[in-house]
Amino acid sequence: MNSQNHFEPHPSTPHPSTPRASTLYTDYAATSPIRPQAQAAMQEAERLLNPAGQYASGRTARRVLEESREQIADILGCDPIEVVFTGSGTEADNLGVQGLAFQSRRTHPEARKILAPAIEHPAVNEVVGWLCDQSQFPGSALGFEHVQLPVDQYGRVADNPAQLQQATAEDTALLALMWANNETGAIQPVEQVVAAARERGIPTHVDAVQVVGHLPVDFHQLGASTLAASAHKFGGPRGAGLLLVRRDVRLASPIRGGGQERGIRSGTVDVSAAAGTAAALRAAVDSHTAEQAHVKQVRDILAQAVREIPDSQVWTSEPALPGHLHVSFPGAEGDSLIMLLDSRGVEASTGSACSAGVNRVSHVLTAMGVPVDVARGTLRLTVGPDVSLSDAQLLATQLPGIVAQARSAGLAT
Ligand code: PLP
Repeated sequence: MNSQNHFEPHPSTPHPSTPRASTLYTDYAATSPIRPQAQAAMQEAERLLNPAGQYASGRTARRVLEESREQIADILGCDPIEVVFTGSGTEADNLGVQGLAFQSRRTHPEARKILAPAIEHPAVNEVVGWLCDQSQFPGSALGFEHVQLPVDQYGRVADNPAQLQQATAEDTALLALMWANNETGAIQPVEQVVAAARERGIPTHVDAVQVVGHLPVDFHQLGASTLAASAHKFGGPRGAGLLLVRRDVRLASPIRGGGQERGIRSGTVDVSAAAGTAAALRAAVDSHTAEQAHVKQVRDILAQAVREIPDSQVWTSEPALPGHLHVSFPGAEGDSLIMLLDSRGVEASTGSACSAGVNRVSHVLTAMGVPVDVARGTLRLTVGPDVSLSDAQLLATQLPGIVAQARSAGLAT
């Protein structure tokens, strides 16, 4: 145990003067500290100008941009032309889902169904909801229909869901499935589901935001039409995303403009963000084996501590992302847990979509059939390479008291 009863200084503390020395960050699934390799690459590229410019500075910027694209393509098993830089994972998801939906409608006018489970991140869920909201398209035949792919009690879809077996390319615009869930960490059978959809000629969008940089990804082998990633989830800059778009897939992009990025994502490309994304991905993949083993050890210490707390429920089940631990303590309010942890220097979240600091009951746990009163007491601990074993042990000793305190405060009415 940490003898000073303090968490170890965080190695990625940007300014040594900021009061992070006794803070433990356990919200890596929300965002992760920037890797020094990404910082260095971005610094080097930050003065570059327009990569589309037809003069010397444009060529210099373009060379860095294309090198970054090649490096990313090499790591993710695709061709450089299939890498589209976006402004976030959310934007990549929006482009993938909307682009496939509208393109399908062009090729198959009757393609109305969108197959997706209810556990998707809002970056997909909200887009599907909007596309399927008939009031958006009054008097037109544009409206789509959301066909939910059910999940089991562990939050996973089936390998070849019945709803997919009944779908055809003529009636189905696309299937969207996240590779791993951001709350529970549950890894989905994406390879099987994508293969089954491809057999039926149905386009597929995979939200791999929690996976890229954490698990091996081979885009060509997977065979999805589009795949979304986000740099800040693997130590790259925030506000930088990737959409992989198969060469033979046409997208009806909702973004119109100068035609950059294959016409899919118009707008002057941020070369510095692209360089930072490539450097972070390279560093994440190179240190993958060692980091994952460490992260798993840290997670297991915390999981053991949680299991010893009476009536606790662990939602993370294998196969799962190694740094994820999503749990509930019935009788406690998630917000109380977060505040009590924060007062002790531990930064964590409930994991559910949080807007303006207000937590809602998790739509993921609801889809898994978890009763609302149980789902209210959730805590998501997501750890990364900077969390030491002694920090995990210190937190493990503090957890029972924190949960008892939150339970004594009860549930808000
Ligand atoms: N998809 C998943 C599964 C996520 O976890 C997140 C972020 O939490 C996103 C999409 C959105 O990514 P970004 O924050 O880059 O917009």
